[in-house]
Amino acid sequence: MTRVLERLDELYAIGAHRAGYSPQEDAAHELAAGWMREARLDVARDEAGNLFGRRGAARVWSGSHLDSVPNGGRFDGALGVVAAIEAAARLPEAPLAAVAFRAEETGPMGSRALKALPDAFVELHIEQGPVLERAGEPLGIVSAIAGQARGVVTFEGRADHAGTTPMDARDDALLKAARFVVHVAGCARPPAVATVGALEVEPNASNVVPARVAVAVDARAPDAARLDELVAAIGFEPTWSLEPVAMSGPPLEALRAVLPNAPSLVSGAGHDAMVLAAAGVPTAMLFVRSLNGGASHSPAELSSPDDIELAGDALTAALARLVR
Ligand SMILES: [Zn+2]
Repeated sequence: MTRVLERLDELYAIGAHRAGYSPQEDAAHELAAGWMREARLDVARDEAGNLFGRRGAARVWSGSHLDSVPNGGRFDGALGVVAAIEAAARLPEAPLAAVAFRAEETGPMGSRALKALPDAFVELHIEQGPVLERAGEPLGIVSAIAGQARGVVTFEGRADHAGTTPMDARDDALLKAARFVVHVAGCARPPAVATVGALEVEPNASNVVPARVAVAVDARAPDAARLDELVAAIGFEPTWSLEPVAMSGPPLEALRAVLPNAPSLVSGAGHDAMVLAAAGVPTAMLFVRSLNGGASHSPAELSSPDDIELAGDALTAALARLVR
């Protein structure tokens, strides 16, 4: 696994910001293409710029993305691509493909633009949260990728002088919004989550009683029924939503067979795997423990060499089963 760690360093040396379709992402794809050739894979790109290292019929794919958020970490996405290439090198006869999708962080754009789909897809990815670290588990098998619903709830009040208006004569929109924020947090029963991450206060002046507040809600749950329940409990009208998708079929069975004791968890973040699963491809995801409290999308992102080695072994064994 030393080679995997070295390659992650090489990718990170391109830059901690490799935006989708930027010269930095191009450079990362170039590096990966060289590693694919070393692993005796045939390199090809599709119209969207996704990179494929194929061998034989290649009906089984594994991979992730090489773009990053600004000031990102060295594992998000990159680990899944490097580990897929490594697995392909360790299975020199296996007909499979290692894939690097374009622009995951700003879409996902590449995986959404796929014109041809595989029979099975496995994505290895860091957890990007603290669940496995807290459980003392190196690896987890994703059972579903959470559905998301977003919307804005607006509270109306009346602007008044902050000095001359008695407390019992006010109609303070921000006080109503504050009670709602607490209500939102109370509605989410694990593993569902609900967040208020943005407020717009009008007129947003320290000496004026707030007249109007718009509260942005983000709700996520592992299946459609629980997402509907959460949205109803919060009481908002989603203006944007993403269907939850279940991991399924031979890829999930292969991971479960290889790691019979690994815990199941729901991914709260979307991934390329979500796009492929939603398109009907039997898909599974293997999560590697994120250290530093699950820090991600930051340079504090960390996974241990031992955990990465276990994950690489499990991915290789699962792919070996899938191509049989
Ligand atoms: Zn990612």
